Amino acid sequence: MRGLTISAHGGLDRIEPRDDLPIPSLSSNAQVRVRVLAAALNHLDLFVVGGLPNVRITPPWIVGSDAMGIVDQVADGVTNVALGDTVLINPGVSDRTCAYCLAGEQPLCPRFAILGEHLPGTIAEYLVVPAANVRRVAPDTDPAEGAAFTLSTLTAWRMLTSRARVVSGEHVLIWGIGGGVALACLQIAKLLGAYVTVTSGSDAKLERAVALGADATINHRGVDVGKEMRSRTGKRGVDIVVDSVGEATWSQSLGALGRRGRLVTCGGTSGPMVTTDVRRLFWNQWSILGSTMGNDAEFDAVVEHFRAGRLHPPVDEVYRLEDGKEAFERMASAEQFGKLVIRVAS
Ligand SMILES: [Zn+2]
Repeated sequence: MRGLTISAHGGLDRIEPRDDLPIPSLSSNAQVRVRVLAAALNHLDLFVVGGLPNVRITPPWIVGSDAMGIVDQVADGVTNVALGDTVLINPGVSDRTCAYCLAGEQPLCPRFAILGEHLPGTIAEYLVVPAANVRRVAPDTDPAEGAAFTLSTLTAWRMLTSRARVVSGEHVLIWGIGGGVALACLQIAKLLGAYVTVTSGSDAKLERAVALGADATINHRGVDVGKEMRSRTGKRGVDIVVDSVGEATWSQSLGALGRRGRLVTCGGTSGPMVTTDVRRLFWNQWSILGSTMGNDAEFDAVVEHFRAGRLHPPVDEVYRLEDGKEAFERMASAEQFGKLVIRVAS
């Protein structure tokens, strides 16, 4: 079968489309095989290509975490989907036996694994996943939108609902609008009734964010966003900051945070080591919240919003599988507004 692979870690020149990959087969009675229509990139894919500590790949390694496809094989024990169903895929695979899994908190599973990172990825013609990781959507769903949806929206949903517990009327600040998680956070925060300020270094991206519902914008180039937000809020500060940039933005994020504020993060694209003044942390009674992926209930919730048309990911561009490297290059340049999609089925 065809797929987008790497055989060693390194630069984006390692990315190689192949047509000689074995079609995967079912290995347990709880799995389904999906014929992939489209797959989508996440920032995680750049880290996988570059190499992550404690993550070992078996070459040729299929990359990608997101996909939409059609169920093409069903194991005997599967009841939630049937042959021919169109499905979205939750890229987070858990053992479903540990205490966290049994409590419904799959992303805390000690054996949690992500497609494309710890398990073969989605940018290939066929993919085997646990049936518990797929949800049915309408057969006429746009494959690009379906593929672009899950990882970033599920991640954003858990960040803003279960973790930061955003409620109507609160002020949410989102760094770096244009990436998948940031855009999903914007849509979800608006759905929850929040007032949303977004930042970008690009005025064009800020304009597009306003069209998607952002209430206020900051071009963060040369601006201290913390000071700017305090001045815009009469020194009160914001209730929630979504910061997955890390080193480059952390102190400005804390500067923007008001009393009882929550800073929620799912990554550190600019670097992992940040500094927090513990005196300000306790005095202001802040919460610093980590979040990753989402549990089954959160997956059900976002898929329901997708089916109802309330959440839908902006798609930046769709590429052929053969041009997959170009999609990675655009991701690396951070020029995109929305998701980069790879059309897999020809
Ligand atoms: Zn578990």
